[in-house]
Amino acid sequence: MSIRIEPACRRLLAHSTGSTTTHQGSGYTITTHYRTYPFIVRRPGSGTTTTAVACGTCDAAVGVRVHSVEEATRRRRRIALGTVLLLVVLLVAAIKLARLDAWPPVGAIAFVGGFGAYRLYRAWQRYDGIRALERRHKILPPTDAAG
Ligand SMILES: [Zn+2]
Repeated sequence: MSIRIEPACRRLLAHSTGSTTTHQGSGYTITTHYRTYPFIVRRPGSGTTTTAVACGTCDAAVGVRVHSVEEATRRRRRIALGTVLLLVVLLVAAIKLARLDAWPPVGAIAFVGGFGAYRLYRAWQRYDGIRALERRHKILPPTDAAG
C-alpha cells in the first residue's frame, strides 16, 4: 500500500518539536514529536514547482517542492525498479550461498541487497513527490496525524 498521487491533496506541515527516548530492557525507542498544520497541495501540470507553506510554530515560510502527477509517478516507478533490482541481487547472492560456491563477500552482498530492497520499498510506500526543503519540517499525509 502506498500514498496516492493526486493533482490536489491534503497534507500536513509537521514542525519537529524534539524527540524522546524510552528504554526497555536492552532496547530503546526514539519518538519524534511534531506540531502539524493542514494545507492543500496543488501539483503543477507538468514538471516541478516550489511553494511556501506557513508554519504555525516557528512562523517560517517553509519551502515545499511539489512534482506533477506525471513526474511523481515516474520517480516512484524508478524507486520500484530499484527495489526489484536489489531483490534480484539478494536472490542471486542467496543462491550462491546455498550452493556453497560463494566467494568471500557474497554474504555482505546479500545483506546490502536485502537491506537496500527493504529501505527502497519503504521509500516507495511513502513517496508522493511532495517534500519540505528544510530539515525541521516534514510533509505528512493526513492519516499520519494521530502519531
Ligand atoms: Zn516550523
